[in-house]
Amino acid sequence: MLFLLPLKAFFKASIAVVNNLPRKHFFALILLFVFLLVISLVPMQPKTKKTIYRSLELPEGVVVKDEHAAAEPLAAIKDEYAKVFPDFSGNKEVEFEVNDGDSLSNIFEKESLSAGALQLLLDADKEHLRLANLIPGQRIKLLIGPDNNLLSLKVFLDLANTLTFTLKEDQYDALLETKAGKWRESLYQGRIIGSFYKTAKASGLTAAQIQQVSATLQDKINFNRLYAGDTFRVLVSKQYIDGQYSSESDVLAILIKNRNKTYTAFLHEDGRYYDKNRQGLSKAYRRFPVNGKFRISSNFNRKRLHPITKRVSPHNGTDFAVSTGTKVYSIGDGVVLRAGYHPAAGNYIVMQHSRKYTTRYLHLSKILVRKGQRVERGAVIARSGNTGRSTGAHLHYEFQINNRPVDAMKVSLPLSTAVSKKEERAFDKRRDLYLQEMGINNI
Ligand SMILES: [Zn+2]
Repeated sequence: MLFLLPLKAFFKASIAVVNNLPRKHFFALILLFVFLLVISLVPMQPKTKKTIYRSLELPEGVVVKDEHAAAEPLAAIKDEYAKVFPDFSGNKEVEFEVNDGDSLSNIFEKESLSAGALQLLLDADKEHLRLANLIPGQRIKLLIGPDNNLLSLKVFLDLANTLTFTLKEDQYDALLETKAGKWRESLYQGRIIGSFYKTAKASGLTAAQIQQVSATLQDKINFNRLYAGDTFRVLVSKQYIDGQYSSESDVLAILIKNRNKTYTAFLHEDGRYYDKNRQGLSKAYRRFPVNGKFRISSNFNRKRLHPITKRVSPHNGTDFAVSTGTKVYSIGDGVVLRAGYHPAAGNYIVMQHSRKYTTRYLHLSKILVRKGQRVERGAVIARSGNTGRSTGAHLHYEFQINNRPVDAMKVSLPLSTAVSKKEERAFDKRRDLYLQEMGINNI
């Protein structure tokens, strides 16, 4: 408490002084106090920035002369990440158009690519069977690594489809990419003058579409007996990719009127045609491509492990253990989409039964049909064999829906000849829509 005493005395004295000050001085003192208070509250001015320039001289050995000076650290990265970033390694891209007589093997020779890679590539193509018969006009893009190893191959099959093979570990992965495009409908109609074929052609239908029309109604109409004055309407759906007609089309609906009768056909969801009363116009599919007694030696298995490599190597078909020369039947009406020889598949046939359904027959000894040929269900299209990469005489048979292999022994096939009960409503709706689009109110 003692040290407070002088402070107390000081305050007392100060108050006494202030009290004794003349009034003017007192006010001056208050003013001074306020002034000091204001000054203390004004924010401080920021200091002016000062820029310091320095120059640094590099020792002569490290001077960066041009962009390549950075290559040394990148080269180190390159080795470590070569697999992840193959582009570091100075890959070369080669692009060209397939010419008449070009084959994959002469392309490989020209680019000095190994025969081993060609073999692996053809193995990977077994699912698509497109590499053995390249078509003039198709574009191909190769990506070749610094050791002249093929990293990827891309084939632009047509406007809609691109097939890419990519090297992964030591085999190629195949990927088929399909552009959906836009489907637009066109109506073709006419009054017959001369033959049906001539009039239909004149209306704008293509030969393939006319063939589809006559094949669909061949059991109902004798097309040679359509006479002048008979009429037809055909509704076609055409695919456009980036505004360009891809030449893919579907005949959606047909209506032919002769003097006394009207014939109709409507394409249903299952890829087959039915008349207005839901009765089937295409024959039912067969389950098996061979007749008589047979043994199945290998079933469809997407996850089959390769016995030697232990890798997943899908078996996309069903193998029938039949001796060479056994008759092979088309399981349904259709058109031969492709037929030829493939080093892995041997002699093969791909049949198109509808936009959705295709079937394939591999390792044949003899092909009895040609590309573009229309074939009826049950027609003998080939003789079985042991060609291509095959370990014994057998028929490998595949069923694909929208380019995807399915188990041919289990797939629910359109086997009956009429629209199934549960699909009746959907069929009727589609039929009525097509009729409306053809400008038909009642039939
Ligand atoms: Zn097989």
